[in-house]
Amino acid sequence: MARKFFVGGNFKMNGTQKSIADIISNLNNANLDPNTEVVLSPPALYLLLTRSQADPKFGVAAQNVFDKPMGAYTGELSVEQLHDCGVSWALVGHSERRVILKEDDDFAARKTKAAIDGGLGVILCVGETLEERESGKTVDVVTRQLGAVASRLSVQDWAKVVIAYEPVWAIGTGKVATTEQAQEVHAALRKFVADSISPSVAENIRIIYGGSVNDKNCQELAKQPDVDGFLVGGASLKPAFVDIINARL
Ligand code: PEP
Repeated sequence: MARKFFVGGNFKMNGTQKSIADIISNLNNANLDPNTEVVLSPPALYLLLTRSQADPKFGVAAQNVFDKPMGAYTGELSVEQLHDCGVSWALVGHSERRVILKEDDDFAARKTKAAIDGGLGVILCVGETLEERESGKTVDVVTRQLGAVASRLSVQDWAKVVIAYEPVWAIGTGKVATTEQAQEVHAALRKFVADSISPSVAENIRIIYGGSVNDKNCQELAKQPDVDGFLVGGASLKPAFVDIINARL
């Protein structure tokens, strides 16, 4: 079965009610590839606005989620609260949370498990730093990050996961991975899933690329056999996001 192309827009800590409403209105009125699944991830404050204004065909993702169901966790949002507000996805393990907020592999794994148990899909981000790439550790790092999650999920849980390969050195830097670099890591991730989870999960799971994707580089990347879509930061705030969603047309 062909994997459905998946494009996520991570607005990060950008936007206002007005600018986010404009982005959504542009997407609602655009001609988009019906074979691409699109998920929008605004800052938490604008999740409700996004859910109420975006066409129901778009999914909405929180940029973060907590692993406990409720209680004294100041500043956090629970899976149940997201679900209650029509949010059906969460980003987990984004490098900005791993690097800036020092979130470790097991925390990402616990959040992933909690999100899936509560009915959310998870866009699970993995990726190496420049230093790790230059010392030949890329595959070790991304499989370690994925392995931590694998140790907490059941085989069935993986149906709710999209893996985002996001080299840290390519995020927000304008330096995109070459098509060969992206394909090589995506293939290694798929092999890891086949060997450590199951061949059928590996065949079906979407592995998307993130890191300075734009309307100029998306088409070549989209042709790679193991690239099943994109996680887009900066360019998701611009009208050209439509061209990235339509990369396979
Ligand atoms: C991201 O934040 O997930 C990302 C890939 O950002 P950018 O597209 O801006 O590099």
